[in-house]
Amino acid sequence: FARQCATGIPARVAFACREQFIVWTESGEVDTEPSGALRHASQLWPAVGDWVMLRDDGPVIDRVLERRTTLSRKQPGSESSEQVLAANVDVLFIVSGLDHDYNPRRLERYLVVARESGATPVIVLNKADLAGELGFDLEELLRLTRTLAGGTTVLPLSAMTDASLDVLGATMSPGETAAMVGSSGVGKSTILNRLLGAERRRTMAVGASDDRGRHTTTARELFVMPGGWLLIDMPGLREVGLWSAEQSVDAGFGDIQELAAACRFRDCTHSGEPGCAVADGAVDQARLANYQKMRREVEYLKRKADPEL
Ligand code: GDP
Ligand code: ZN
Repeated sequence: FARQCATGIPARVAFACREQFIVWTESGEVDTEPSGALRHASQLWPAVGDWVMLRDDGPVIDRVLERRTTLSRKQPGSESSEQVLAANVDVLFIVSGLDHDYNPRRLERYLVVARESGATPVIVLNKADLAGELGFDLEELLRLTRTLAGGTTVLPLSAMTDASLDVLGATMSPGETAAMVGSSGVGKSTILNRLLGAERRRTMAVGASDDRGRHTTTARELFVMPGGWLLIDMPGLREVGLWSAEQSVDAGFGDIQELAAACRFRDCTHSGEPGCAVADGAVDQARLANYQKMRREVEYLKRKADPEL
């Protein structure tokens, strides 16, 4: 199809590990490498989920096409480099365990990350089967989560049951792409493996792997789910650092924004001034503190990037 077309061959990056990229084209899976021009700093570096153009004459990625959504994190300790973890993700599953891992503040943080990426978040509360056993009140945790989530979908499930996996799959349409984030141990691999069932197979046997033969934490891979949607596996991705605009933080805290808008003081920082509408509002104190912490972080990063501010 592409031979007679001079503009290159469209492909999607299905596996990214350092300099190694496997892409899907109309004629199948291709092992590729980035072109010399792509190595220039001004060029977008391919990430899993990216749509790219290959050269007509060889397995070389010439350019990365415009991204609809970008899941990224700031490299710790570096001023400028933003590491793109995945591109063109439609739905971001934020996975948490309904066990000792449950942490509403972390969920709030991930919701901001999702907002910043452009993907639609879905909160997955896994290990619902364990909650009761461990003495957690499932209904109470669900209520708490729905409150902090605003309009975001919250799915309690147990990765061990087929019914739960069907619920998860039902949130996706064929052709859509999802990615999973969440702390280690919350059940991300279990969910991926059970969704894939017997169909799981590695895209490739090569690539960097650790001493136990697993892909290192930098490998990210796109899998086709039985329902025709795609899921990006991001092993080793525990916490996504906050690298957001104020607007993304604010958007995750609509309740606090509403109160701030009603505050009668001009130039109020809404951080505890007596008489401030936010301080007087019925906002959970830990939630408010989390919001303020994230705003400070964003401010800090902004100043670091541009000391003139
Ligand atoms: P990951 O680090 O997020 O990929 O987590 P894993 O998929 O490796 O799961 C960590 C542990 O939790 C494993 O022992 C799983 O068997 C277990 N686990 C995962 N999902 C569930 C669940 O829904 N219920 C229970 N009881 N255990 C689960
Ligand atoms: Zn105020």
